[in-house]
Amino acid sequence: MKVLKFGGTSVGDAARINQLIDIVASERERDPKIVVVVSAMSGVTNLLLGAAHAAANGRHSEVEAAHNALLAKHRTALSDLVENDLVRETLDGELIRLLDRFAKLCEGISLLGELPPRALDFIAGTGERLSSRLVAAAMRNRGIEAEAFDADKLVVTDDNFGEATPDLAATTVNARATLLPVIEKGIIPVITGFIGATEAGIPTTLGRGGSDFSGGIFGAALEADEVVIWTDADGFMTADPRLVPDARTLGQISYSEAAELAYYGAKVLHPKTLVPLIPKQIPLYVKNSFKPELPGTRVTTKSGAWNADIKSVTSIKNVALVTVSGSGMMGLPGIAAKTFVAVAALGVNVLMISQSSSENNLCLMVGSDEAEKTRAALTKALEVEFHHQCIDTIGVRDRVAIIAAVGEAMRGCPGIAARLFTAVAECGANVVAIAQGSSELNISFVVDEDDAGKAVAAIHSRFELGK
Ligand code: ADP
Ligand code: ASP
Ligand code: MG
Repeated sequence: MKVLKFGGTSVGDAARINQLIDIVASERERDPKIVVVVSAMSGVTNLLLGAAHAAANGRHSEVEAAHNALLAKHRTALSDLVENDLVRETLDGELIRLLDRFAKLCEGISLLGELPPRALDFIAGTGERLSSRLVAAAMRNRGIEAEAFDADKLVVTDDNFGEATPDLAATTVNARATLLPVIEKGIIPVITGFIGATEAGIPTTLGRGGSDFSGGIFGAALEADEVVIWTDADGFMTADPRLVPDARTLGQISYSEAAELAYYGAKVLHPKTLVPLIPKQIPLYVKNSFKPELPGTRVTTKSGAWNADIKSVTSIKNVALVTVSGSGMMGLPGIAAKTFVAVAALGVNVLMISQSSSENNLCLMVGSDEAEKTRAALTKALEVEFHHQCIDTIGVRDRVAIIAAVGEAMRGCPGIAARLFTAVAECGANVVAIAQGSSELNISFVVDEDDAGKAVAAIHSRFELGK
């Protein structure tokens, strides 16, 4: 069995959906058991979220504009994809129903004047509900038996709206009970990515870009032979091809390398996708739906041969550096513990940690929009240390970026860091903080956001990743 996940651009319009069906048809010749997981059509989730925020701020004309644009986009695709009038009208009714529900929710939000997280998740998942129905109908139109499924009936999550965590055991029971009989009958389930629901049935989302994670969840639940992420890049590349034009595709990388790359900004894969797949050693492929003939990247336990000391360089923007510093911190136990307990209690995700050896400062990287609340929480948690003057300041430096160089070959290979930081210095970027994991799989550091592009390009060229 194969789980094929198609991202936003791969379901972006009628032509792309037809290409998706070509891919499914050709995969089905090799393996009749296929499960499809889809994202919303490209741009749709952003439009939905923008409208929800506009509603909360009383800008109702924006909601109306979004509603009209969404209806037009899906209708255009529908009329190109489904020939039978009756089938088309029925599906058109479904699209109208889903978009009306979105508009009603926005009305409620604008009356309230605020945006409850569960309402936002309900709205955010509308795009996948629309695209899955469209794709399943388009498949049936081309003679492939297919049925749309909403994943809120399958994926059980906690109630951390916006970034919910799935209960894999409960999800496995649901997915197997619902989907296996369908697959056995030769029908292709077309499942909404990105969404789940709490045990009580309240819809949630798995975080932005979370349809990849859905692919991993269903791959593991159904014990697929492989999961394929169909996207608009040729695979995992040596850098984001939008930033580095001569980036090359990596043929084979390990789960650990892929996880590090995804965690440190390679948007091509959601960082949690591999979590359910690794224990079952299910291989994952990343392939370009525009060029299905290319081999893409294979991700398994093995790291493939490669002609450079690092495999790829990534960057994350919209992060901030929070620094706890004070000359009295030296040798004083417990400050790190208090710091991390306070940050964890806030529910803030720490992306990178670094401490200078003189122990007079401790740096953590968090998302930009969480920096101020992190500072406030730390100021409170470390009140006593401030009072005793062990700590002088808790600073926030915004508009910075994390850069990470990743590759298993750097383990035990001396001189990588020296070459890397020479390249960064030569391009004129100032390094603000550095961290290396003890796995030696990754060196990450912080630069000013405006320097991120040139630092990535300098490392890419220094390690000759484009050759
Ligand atoms: P999808 O809609 O298919 O999920 P995304 O936009 O989420 O696609 O992810 C694909 C994009 O990820 C590519 O277009 C590319 O610009 C970006 N990307 C960032 N880093 C990398 C990388 N190292 N390799 C490949 N693509 C990358
Ligand atoms: N549509 C969702 C998003 O834009 C999920 C995804 O595309 O993976 O975040
Ligand atoms: Mg994506």
